[in-house]
Amino acid sequence: MSDVRNVIIIGSGPAGYTAALYTARASLNPLVFEGAVTAGGALMNTTDVENFPGFRDGIMGPDLMDSMRAQAERFGAELVPDDVVAVSLTEEIKTVTDTAGTVHRAKAVIVATGSQHRKLGLPNEDALSGRGVSWCATCDGFFFKDQDIAVVGGGDTAMEEATFLSRFARSVTVVHRRDSLRASKAMQERAFADPKIKFAWDSEVAEIHGDQKLTGLTLRNTKTCESSELPVTGLFIAVGHDPRTELFKGQLELDGEGYLKVDAPSTRTSLTGVFAAGDVVDHTYRQAITAAGTGCSAALDAERFLAALA
Ligand code: FAD
Repeated sequence: MSDVRNVIIIGSGPAGYTAALYTARASLNPLVFEGAVTAGGALMNTTDVENFPGFRDGIMGPDLMDSMRAQAERFGAELVPDDVVAVSLTEEIKTVTDTAGTVHRAKAVIVATGSQHRKLGLPNEDALSGRGVSWCATCDGFFFKDQDIAVVGGGDTAMEEATFLSRFARSVTVVHRRDSLRASKAMQERAFADPKIKFAWDSEVAEIHGDQKLTGLTLRNTKTCESSELPVTGLFIAVGHDPRTELFKGQLELDGEGYLKVDAPSTRTSLTGVFAAGDVVDHTYRQAITAAGTGCSAALDAERFLAALA
């Protein structure tokens, strides 16, 4: 079984690279599948990251991820910029197949495939990401002091983001397709009681305007189809996330929303020798530092699992 690795890591965000760093430093020679087009994970699509500890003046998302990558590589992690297209995790020796059809074998697998925020699917949405368009109030709210901003969505996350953002913003307009919210009663009441939060009911974002920075939105009334302009410098999109768990369906236990289930506070999944970390598990926090933290936990869990096999 000389070609059987100790550990394969799937994913290259903060969770995957941190797991790579720890397992590499433990001399486990990890093989890391980084993804074909999205190596570095979600932070490759943003500008300033001001809340990752250790960077007093903040750091650009791609620079942070390049450093994490280089640090893991320095200790011997083998990094492959390719997608995993199939896995078989139920046996003692797990297999992972890449896009060329090559099958890689390992005693342990760490899943760190992240989650994908849902987009509105509008032109300009990606171009203005980090330039006024955001998917994370905790990350970016601070940049919008005394500005007029909009939040799209009608669920708990949207209300939580709107309420959080009203601390900084001059006004927050919640844009929602219907005339009532899906959010829990308590979240709704908090939002309704906040004098800075306004509601654009029965409305959807039809256009996102701006060249280098967001300057405003065109809203369309879902009942009358009438258009109106909303001059805002921030747009927070809170219409949900999809964990990247397609590969694991039928093998690993998922929860009702498709996230991988782990035996918290450990990172053990429903299958022995398979661990999961980062946003693919996390409904709640979804931060780079929490992903890195659970990536570390997964590496330590895998290390202990492998030590017990020896
Ligand atoms: P991800 O970063 O999503 O990485 C997952 C990786 O897995 C990707 O590289 C992907 O290519 C890879 N992958 C998936 N499937 C496969 C496969 N089949 N084969 C191989 N590889 C695969 N958080 C903060 O703390 N501060 C911020 O300022 C901040 N700003 C943000 C700005 C934006 C625009 C976004 C979208 C998020 C931001 N976040 C921020 C949140 C933060 O980026 C995430 O919480 C964090 O990246 C999650 O890390 P992760 O490792 O779990 O997953």
